[in-house]
Amino acid sequence: MTLSIQNLKNAALHLETVFASALDAMVVTDAQGVIAVFNHAAEQMFGYSSDEVIGLNTSILMPMPDSLHHHLYMERYIETGQARVPRKGREVIAKHRNGETFYVDIAISDVHVEDGVIFTAVIRDISARKAKEEKIMRLAFFDQETGLPNTYYLIDKLEYFFKQASDDNFLILIYIGDLTNYINIFGCQGIKDVVIALAHRLKIQLPKQSLIARCDSRHLKVIYAPDKGEQVCAEQLAKQIQACLNQPLEIAGNRIFLNAYFGICQIIPQIHTVKSLLDHTDIALHIAKQHIAQNYEIFQEKFESTLHRRALLVQKLYHVMENLPFELYLQPQISLKTEQIIGVEALIRWQDVDGMWISPAEFIPIAETIGLIKDITLWTLKKASTILKDWQIAGQQHYRIAINISAQVICADTFVEEISCFLAETQINPRILELEITETALMLSLDTAVKNVAQLSALGISISIDDFGTGLSSLAYLKCFKVDRLKIDQSFITNALMNKEDQAMLAGIIEFSHGLGYQVICEGVEQKEQVLLLKQLGCDEIQGYYFAKPMLHTEFLQFAENFRF
Ligand code: C2E
Ligand code: CA
Ligand code: CA
Repeated sequence: MTLSIQNLKNAALHLETVFASALDAMVVTDAQGVIAVFNHAAEQMFGYSSDEVIGLNTSILMPMPDSLHHHLYMERYIETGQARVPRKGREVIAKHRNGETFYVDIAISDVHVEDGVIFTAVIRDISARKAKEEKIMRLAFFDQETGLPNTYYLIDKLEYFFKQASDDNFLILIYIGDLTNYINIFGCQGIKDVVIALAHRLKIQLPKQSLIARCDSRHLKVIYAPDKGEQVCAEQLAKQIQACLNQPLEIAGNRIFLNAYFGICQIIPQIHTVKSLLDHTDIALHIAKQHIAQNYEIFQEKFESTLHRRALLVQKLYHVMENLPFELYLQPQISLKTEQIIGVEALIRWQDVDGMWISPAEFIPIAETIGLIKDITLWTLKKASTILKDWQIAGQQHYRIAINISAQVICADTFVEEISCFLAETQINPRILELEITETALMLSLDTAVKNVAQLSALGISISIDDFGTGLSSLAYLKCFKVDRLKIDQSFITNALMNKEDQAMLAGIIEFSHGLGYQVICEGVEQKEQVLLLKQLGCDEIQGYYFAKPMLHTEFLQFAENFRF
């Protein structure tokens, strides 16, 4: 169809009106990018009047480096016909007259005329939509308090690492533990400062590709991604993270020491899913929190069955707490001076409904963490009191009975009062009651433990430090406590016969304990030679399979009657 001159004029007039009234900015340029038309909406959008820009290159509407490269794009298009922008809508950054940049959607059409090409760009300001999108991104993928990426961001990144199919990377879950002193001063909000400071430190020390995300107020997740060509093993990495966590953080002029724990799992895309990987670091952290000597754990497959067993025992324990189907066994303690039985250690036993015995070494630590240990201890004390009454009746009230007391119990504010009530109710002579407390338990909450031990001692009860020598505490802590007896752990006697150094250590502990006025009992004694050695070294008392395994009360009475050293 051919148009008459009049029709062409009319069409041009019509186009001019369309351009002028269009809501979108419209810019027409020649093949070199020189602006020929700049409509009203473009004036509003870019801050230039059309008179100012007509004849200038469109690059003035672009920020660096696009403005520099623009002529290259145009030249390539003219030479090859290959276009990055024409005909396709695209998001780009534009520049306002005042220098500010903003997001625009731009669609360019090219019209071939006799002496070249004319480009018409239709431009829409999308900065409001972009800001909204960014806000949604920030809300969805970043922690609002600290600005760190959150779990969703981390999961996204993990999926990326999975696609890389490399098993050089690790996932680390860090738990920021006790910050009581800091929180006391700065409130819970203060945790934010600690997280930011720690994330900052980690960022400096980890390779560039690594990612640090905040998952909840006290947990950080780290993807450790080594630089190309570098490899690190889990153990080395753990030491690196441990060193990082051990240094104090400087926050607002305060030095903060973290009591942090972490779990590590190597990312093996062939065997992991994102979920299993997250679960594995959770499990490793859970195990790490139970350690005393180190604050981390590297995931091992066997942990899963351990946790499964634990979950089963938690369920069983809650279930049995109504009728407490426990038994209290007694293991004799023998004096090496008098060669007589002088007491017993009370050791709890639990027989499951299927007849299987569940070791206290397994269920007591669980009861401690789920808050059932106090009830169990009260049960033990009650049971011990009935045994003591039987002894009274049988005229054997001179035996001492030692009860194991967990950290949570000795550090509870109400414990001393409960023991006083127990003594008053049962009329038990406190001198025959001994409480065995491990040194680690005492160290957990030193101030309360010192106070409670002093008050218990004042009631006439004796205190024994259990598993002595296995904790990490310094000997200086002993000065804080009124202690009667040190119970040397089995590990010291096991090797003492074969190993001169172990023997020297054992001799040293006995001598030093006596020097401080403590009695010494050695546990886990299994052989005659060990008995003789301990006697020679001046140990006061012994306990172990050599004389007897823990036994029922009735069996103990028989054992005591027939006992010969
Ligand atoms: P523990 O207090 O160090 O108790 C000593 C453990 O060593 C007992 O294990 C005992 O049976 C065992 N044992 C005694 N003599 C020998 C020996 O000659 N050789 C060997 N290899 N082992 C010996 P048990 O009864 O399984 O208790 C394990 C742990 O459970 C105890 O360690 C204690 O920490 C805890 N426990 C036991 N009963 C109670 C309780 O009533 N309350 C609390 N809180 N903890 C308890
Ligand atoms: Ca004990
Ligand atoms: Ca012990």
